[in-house]
Amino acid sequence: MSENMNGGGNTLAETEYDVVVVGAGASGLTAAMTAARGGASVIVLEVAEGIGGTTAKSSGGFWIPRNRLQLERAQTDDHFVDDRDGCLAHMARMAYPEKYDRGAERHGLDQHEWDHIVHYYDNAAEVIGDLESTDDITIMWLGSFRGDDLGLPSWFETEEDGNTYGRLLCVTAFDKDRGSAGFSLSAKRTGGSDEAMQSLGATFGDGVDLTLRLAASLRKYGGDVVCEHRVTDLVFDDEGGVTGVVADSPSGSVTVTARKAVIFGSGGLEHDKELREKYLRGPIVGSCGVETNRGDLVRIAERHDLSLGNMREAWWATLPLEPCLASTEQGELMNQLYGDATVGVSFEGKRVSNEKESYNERGKIHSYQAPDGSYPYRLLVQVLHGSVIDDPSEWPARWPVPVAPEIPEYVVKGDTLEELADALRARLDGLADQTDGFQLSDDFVPNLKATIERFNGFAETGVDEDFGRGNTWPQQYFSVQFRGEDEKPNFTMYPIADTGPYYALVYGASCLGSKGGPKITLDGQILRNDRTPVPGLFGAGNCIASPTGAAYWGGGSTLGPAIFNGYCAGRAAIGDPLTAASSYVSA
Ligand SMILES: Cc1cc2nc3c(=O)[nH]c(=O)nc-3n(C[C@H](O)[C@H](O)[C@H](O)COP(=O)(O)OP(=O)(O)OC[C@H]3O[C@@H](n4cnc5c(N)ncnc54)[C@H](O)[C@@H]3O)c2cc1C
Repeated sequence: MSENMNGGGNTLAETEYDVVVVGAGASGLTAAMTAARGGASVIVLEVAEGIGGTTAKSSGGFWIPRNRLQLERAQTDDHFVDDRDGCLAHMARMAYPEKYDRGAERHGLDQHEWDHIVHYYDNAAEVIGDLESTDDITIMWLGSFRGDDLGLPSWFETEEDGNTYGRLLCVTAFDKDRGSAGFSLSAKRTGGSDEAMQSLGATFGDGVDLTLRLAASLRKYGGDVVCEHRVTDLVFDDEGGVTGVVADSPSGSVTVTARKAVIFGSGGLEHDKELREKYLRGPIVGSCGVETNRGDLVRIAERHDLSLGNMREAWWATLPLEPCLASTEQGELMNQLYGDATVGVSFEGKRVSNEKESYNERGKIHSYQAPDGSYPYRLLVQVLHGSVIDDPSEWPARWPVPVAPEIPEYVVKGDTLEELADALRARLDGLADQTDGFQLSDDFVPNLKATIERFNGFAETGVDEDFGRGNTWPQQYFSVQFRGEDEKPNFTMYPIADTGPYYALVYGASCLGSKGGPKITLDGQILRNDRTPVPGLFGAGNCIASPTGAAYWGGGSTLGPAIFNGYCAGRAAIGDPLTAASSYVSA
């Protein structure tokens, strides 16, 4: 074992390798271990003090259609049948909703968009199978926490794809004592969702297990990681091919030569204010991606005429405003708006979305732009009846809703709706210099009362006529059910009583990571603006133009492509592309 291989070492043993990988998350580690397994000498340069990136904070789920576990189970259980045409249509629709046309050739997508989707559907399962053949990785389903043996449901039921089970995989746990692996991790998850899933009976290896398994495999094949090295630029030869990188290190600027290739797996731009304001489709209040993800590849691409794509998109979510003002990196995401007697409303007191919709879809609501260019929903308010706060259920999607009597600062309280609005106004006044004075409208209280009256009617009938809350199984799956015999016909909704107390928290858009960057070929090779591939330059994961477009195909849709594209890049980087077809330049 190299002495650098502790995830905390920050000294380069050499300055020349076959393959230089940038970033030690899922995409970078998969690329690195794949290239090392193919016989290349490999170094991973990681800016943080430890490995894992956002991957190590995640639940570790990856979305792989037609995987071997799913195919086996489909023999006896129709829930697991994976219909290729239906799934491809689902993927196309969610990735490019504005282009999608089911009856059209390629469902209306451009050739390269379609090729990437088909490439993923047809090859991702084989890639995972090949990773399993290392004996370092064994897949399992990310287990259900509702006592069934189906695994977690897909995030969506679409008419194209139904509610197909079995695509959300994870790795088996690394070992009981993760410290024994000899790696230090850069970031930690907080918020307790994974622990809550496990305490309700779900079994799975999480993002730490995934990180450690990939890193251990890299080590087995002779690869190495060095931390505290931030790659800031590329080195080119006279023909325009990439031959190395420049990095800031504890001992100053270093140049590391790559005899065969450089592969970026350096995450998104979520923690660079300038880049996210320039590119993302709307403002975000913070992110649960690691704060070392600062869009360095985007800046490099801007300097070197590389072709950027999917720049408006991210893996969207929401976060409470006030913790983000203290630190833009948060340790958890708001999965749904937790609770039954609760609504999410605009600063005018009106509902604007389905509170139980997946985080990616809810996160997009905040970027709605009014004709005058403003973002009226950039901040929203979750209003809860006290009965939700009083219930102590430890539920996976609970954070950031507290359990009484421990009420955090970011939650305000009022015995009446008027008092609640007063408390919110006072809080927002105090934050005015950080929120451009965004404040509740004068008619917030009457509007909120009307909203609650209408919502309470929906709660009684069980049908949310405005947004369809709780009308699919995935929405219900993540919703807490704690009232027993008092429950209403649709347990995701319960009338908000006309006596308090009431609680509220202000929340805004966030992301798990952005997903725009240089466009890639099917092999992960990065393209110039003239659509020619740059010799020796590859990318995968959240730092490149994601082949997923705007989609979150289902749980695990960020790590699935990160691993897949990392693998493809690792193979192509050493001259062993996955398939003959994948050397096709499709842009
Ligand atoms: C709470 C939470 C739960 C999640 N759960 C899931 C899940 O179950 N399934 C799923 O699919 N997704 C999940 N995600 C999202 C997923 O974790 C990320 O999308 C994914 O890990 C991104 O992988 P990556 O390799 O692209 O980036 P990362 O894992 O973030 O790795 C990028 C690495 O590059 C390093 N880096 C950045 N710039 C440089 C530079 N210039 N030089 C050197 N190093 C650099 C960073 O420090 C980082 O270590 C979750 C996210 C969160 C926050």
